[in-house]
Amino acid sequence: VAAGILRRQRARESSARTYARSFPIVPARAKGMTIEGTDGRRYLDCLSGAGTLALGHNHPVVLEAIQRTLESGAPLHVLDLATPEKDDFTDALFDTLPKGFADRARIHFCGPAGTDAVEAALKLTQTVTGRRGVLAFTGAYHGMTAGALAVTGNVAAKERIAGGAGGAADVTRLPYPFSYRCPFGVGGERGAELSAAYTERLLDDPAGGVVRPAAMIVEPVQGEGGAVPAPDSWLRAMRRITAERDIPLIVDEVQTGVGRTGAFWAVEHSGVTPDVMVMSKAIGGSLPLAVIVYDRDYDAWLPGAHTGTFRGNTLAMATGAATLRYVTRHGLAERAATVGARMTARLEGLRHELPAIGDVRGRGLLIGVELVDAEGPVDSCGAHPAAPDLAERVRAACLDRGLIIELGGRFNATARLLPPLTITDEQAEAVLDRFTDAIARVSA
Ligand code: PMP
Repeated sequence: VAAGILRRQRARESSARTYARSFPIVPARAKGMTIEGTDGRRYLDCLSGAGTLALGHNHPVVLEAIQRTLESGAPLHVLDLATPEKDDFTDALFDTLPKGFADRARIHFCGPAGTDAVEAALKLTQTVTGRRGVLAFTGAYHGMTAGALAVTGNVAAKERIAGGAGGAADVTRLPYPFSYRCPFGVGGERGAELSAAYTERLLDDPAGGVVRPAAMIVEPVQGEGGAVPAPDSWLRAMRRITAERDIPLIVDEVQTGVGRTGAFWAVEHSGVTPDVMVMSKAIGGSLPLAVIVYDRDYDAWLPGAHTGTFRGNTLAMATGAATLRYVTRHGLAERAATVGARMTARLEGLRHELPAIGDVRGRGLLIGVELVDAEGPVDSCGAHPAAPDLAERVRAACLDRGLIIELGGRFNATARLLPPLTITDEQAEAVLDRFTDAIARVSA
């Protein structure tokens, strides 16, 4: 069965298939952290729908929300009309918002993907300011539609498009503070200070070439960029720099939100209040949902200025509300912080034994392990050359051992571990046993 399905989909689907290439499996059933293929093989899923499944697969509260909504006879699609489900989702979401933001918040349902919400955030700040440009960072990932792609760092995704696909927004690229592959030749807090100082001087330089932009867009922890956390002090510096220059700050929490980094929203670690927050993935509780939440002073669109057919889906609002409440009630953000710290510490402890582990980083259960060529020369920050081929073999060896992990980062050499927040201690140990065994085997 599986072979036939894989063959037919390979023949009929777009050449851009990505995950299907990395994971030639055909899922039949899933529960919690486990996916079972049509061949009966079981896998521990450390990809979680690219960070979407905060509660893992088919959590009882998610299934119950779907069943309850279906049995109620609620219409599944009513454009953006007022519904009890939308009301309840908005209540649940506003209850989670950072202090100082909730009481002034407005929500716009976008949809259904993260990239749609990024487009909305860019367009809203352009509408409010009457400006066009955007400040974005090296290593950033914001999506694949024109505006979101323009602010994304990944060159491979756009280099074959004439004009570099940057045409939808006029982007100024700034260096993200990345300790391991440090843009200024120095890591840690000092590297972050240099990144902030560079930003400030560039914006104030009358010959710096940057016309005052419509927004700055930033991920508090870069996800696809390789699980790179920005220091809290740096994010506070970005807030100060943008506020002083009347530039709206958009924080993209598509991947970092809903407890994953150890706080419900990753901006809470730094105490920064953004002007616009971009949310998707886990807020839909397995189903597609994307929103922007912003300060009421930004509520500048006229009716019809940003419309769309699929802006909020009844079932996704029900599963989303159930998920948001479950994460809060069960303290899953705190749990992500604890388990994440334990997993990271065990990986750190293995660096001497497994020199292919160049860097272990991340926050909470957004973990990255950069695989390197330990024989290669170190750069000024002490980093060895990235080893994408080795990383690819590690990923395949993990799959052989019943573990699904994805790669990301600058050189596609960072193994990304994004387990559900409901991961048990035993599952966390099993993930690391399989993962480190795969590294040991492949790098021997
Ligand atoms: N922003 C961030 C931070 C993301 O990680 C992603 C998806 N990985 C997106 C935006 C785009 O979301 P989507 O794939 O749903 O369009």
